[in-house]
Amino acid sequence: MLDSDVEENAPGERSVTDRLYGGAGEHRLLQEMLLGIGGVRAVRTYTRLTGTPDPEVFHTNEGHAGFLGLERIRELQGEGLDFDSALETVRAGTVFTTHTPVPAGIDRFDRALVARHLGEDGELPGVDTGKVLALGDETPLGGEPGVFNMAAMGLRLAQRANGVSTLHGAVSRAMFAGLWPGFDAEEVPITSVTNGVHAPTWVAPEVGRLGPDPADRELWDLRRTLRERLVTDVRERLRASWRQRGAAAAELGWTDSVLDPDVLTIGFARRVPSYKRLTLMLRDKDRLRALLLHPERPVQLVVAGKAHPADDGGKRLVQELVRFADDPRVRHRIVFLPDYGMAMARGLYPGCDVWLNNPLRPLEACGTSGMKAALNGCLNLSVLDGWWDEWYEPDFGWAIPTADGAAAADEERRDDLEAAALYELIERRVAPRFYDRGPDGVPAGWTAMVRRTLTDLGPKVLADRMVREYVERLYVPAAAAHRALTPERARELAAWKARVREAWPKVAVDRVEVGDDLADDLADAELGATPVVRVRVALGALAPDDVEVQAVTGRVDADDTLADLRAVPLKPAGGPDLEGRQPYAGTLALDRTGSFGCTVRVRPSHPLLAHPAELGLAALPEETTGEGAGVLLR
Ligand SMILES: *Cc1c(COP(=O)(O)O)cnc(C)c1O
Repeated sequence: MLDSDVEENAPGERSVTDRLYGGAGEHRLLQEMLLGIGGVRAVRTYTRLTGTPDPEVFHTNEGHAGFLGLERIRELQGEGLDFDSALETVRAGTVFTTHTPVPAGIDRFDRALVARHLGEDGELPGVDTGKVLALGDETPLGGEPGVFNMAAMGLRLAQRANGVSTLHGAVSRAMFAGLWPGFDAEEVPITSVTNGVHAPTWVAPEVGRLGPDPADRELWDLRRTLRERLVTDVRERLRASWRQRGAAAAELGWTDSVLDPDVLTIGFARRVPSYKRLTLMLRDKDRLRALLLHPERPVQLVVAGKAHPADDGGKRLVQELVRFADDPRVRHRIVFLPDYGMAMARGLYPGCDVWLNNPLRPLEACGTSGMKAALNGCLNLSVLDGWWDEWYEPDFGWAIPTADGAAAADEERRDDLEAAALYELIERRVAPRFYDRGPDGVPAGWTAMVRRTLTDLGPKVLADRMVREYVERLYVPAAAAHRALTPERARELAAWKARVREAWPKVAVDRVEVGDDLADDLADAELGATPVVRVRVALGALAPDDVEVQAVTGRVDADDTLADLRAVPLKPAGGPDLEGRQPYAGTLALDRTGSFGCTVRVRPSHPLLAHPAELGLAALPEETTGEGAGVLLR
């Protein structure tokens, strides 16, 4: 809600907010500076004028408002903290949400440009430019040295981070694992909170008025009402769009019979970045035509889309779809609506029977349109990506199988396979269920799915559930962490981190023994055994209190790595040996069959860390298998 187009501003300043996503260069950087730095200043002005308490937690979504962390560092420096202590304070009170695994979705800037606008000589006087630039360094992610990466900065400025579905959490942990070099992807401190949608905005009033246990007939009649309303609405929009394309009213008589309020209606609406595959359904046009024109079980498609003005590829996909839909043979069964937006979307979700989504897995971080559809009793037909991967159940709709292995690597083959699977599902599963009517004309199998979708899927996809999760799992702990970090403790934490980082190269795990023997001799350890693990750890300049030592056990994978990790804490066992190494010991419980392994690792430990992987530091035995190092038990 910040608008720079006010009289007091110079022309260059007035144009900063002239469009939504200002490209990838300076314009976008200025927008993000305005939103981040200006946003904090706006909040401070508001709280001062109204006497509202200052917020304890800031939540940044991708890079958009990401610079707010730097502005807060500048504020704290003004209160006498140094950069590193201010950074700790900011981190404690910041949550970062990553929203996309598509690299093009992450804002990246030229480092020199960032250096010019931010830091000491720019908008953040007194804030060390080198330290600012280091926050956006993407080289640990395999990126380019000359680039400032807003997601990397977001993760470094926040003690807590998340993706937006369970699958996207896992994908993000792998994608950003380079920022926590001592840890496996599964331990990277990025959790997930699955998105939700706002029911009062998206639920049709009639659906909202349904009683707790509506009869099949009532559900089915309601679907018919909503479908019919969509059909009427689509005809109007279609006429308007044809008139815009220059058609005269007299030529548009055919639009009165476009779509049929009794035909199975599939909706598909999106912005059209390529990973969403707007045109996957056109892969085999004859096959699609046959589905649309099926003599007993026809389907009709309502497609809506919006290409970004600068996205020529997206525009081409839209044109391809429009060409197909213009064909007089099928134009009564497939409609393309341009300028997809919220107003159109609100009628679309309730009026469709099936909501189609076929992104390239796993690039859909969450996807929310299918959630809005489900809230209205529309069934989902989707690739198992984003939210559908975690909440799909056969009663809620259908999962489009994805190509894997060699086929997944070959784009053409992958799209062929996934499109064929889609046609197959519609023809053999979706349409037959919709048209399988009882003596009363109601498809009981279908209404059962609608009912289950409304009662059991609906509550999960709500924004209420999402907000509660953010509050309980992220905001409340962040507020507590921020409150605990008084200026003294912030200085203490920053100094401790600096000391640990400096001392870490000397930390080493020397010798792991399990039971009475060196590890290798335990080849025939038995289920139920409780062998003692002993290890000597060189701590260099650190004290035992600075670290946590643990035995990590897990299943041994085919490539000799450990999976399904379980950690057992080890305790100091006596004083250091002659070489200054500290002995540790603990007891394992061999309670799982099958081959498993054990290694020991040392991690920094401090009560003010939110996560044991926070510093990205861990020390393991030099070799993780073999004599005297990690242990392989079979
Ligand atoms: C919900 C919605 C979206 C996002 O849908 P996705 O499934 O996340 O692609 C985009 N545009 C409009 C108008 C919407 O209502």
